[in-house]
Amino acid sequence: MADDCLFCRIVVGEIAVPIVAQNEYAVAFRDIHPQAPVHVLIVPRRHLGSVLDGSDLVELGALTALASEVARAEGLAPEGFRIVTNTGLNGGQTVPHLHMHVLGGRSMKWPPG
Ligand code: 5GP
Ligand code: ZN
Repeated sequence: MADDCLFCRIVVGEIAVPIVAQNEYAVAFRDIHPQAPVHVLIVPRRHLGSVLDGSDLVELGALTALASEVARAEGLAPEGFRIVTNTGLNGGQTVPHLHMHVLGGRSMKWPPG
């Protein structure tokens, strides 16, 4: 756990949020400012600053597996959805703990802004 990391505090339960789904490596909870009818964040239990810090293939795979599981459980599979991992300044990352956004329930635009 990293000191003063918002998502680490959520993972260990210091900040209580409803957990949507979880596995050994990752936890899913709803984004506080949803950008789509379904907007769930998937975060590793272990603190990683961004995807650049991820090297454990099982851990990275577990994040993707949980994202798919959440998308299915939220009913997004038939119509499709988007998984986004913003990274660094130009990527628009605002919370420095690796996370995937699972967005769905509306049509997405491309290219992203
Ligand atoms: P980023 O901008 O780093 O890609 O995504 C960070 C996300 O975390 C944003 O979509 C933001 O709304 C969300 N977020 C920030 N603070 C909180 C919080 O306290 N609780 C939850 N559930 N989401 C948060
Ligand atoms: Zn953290």
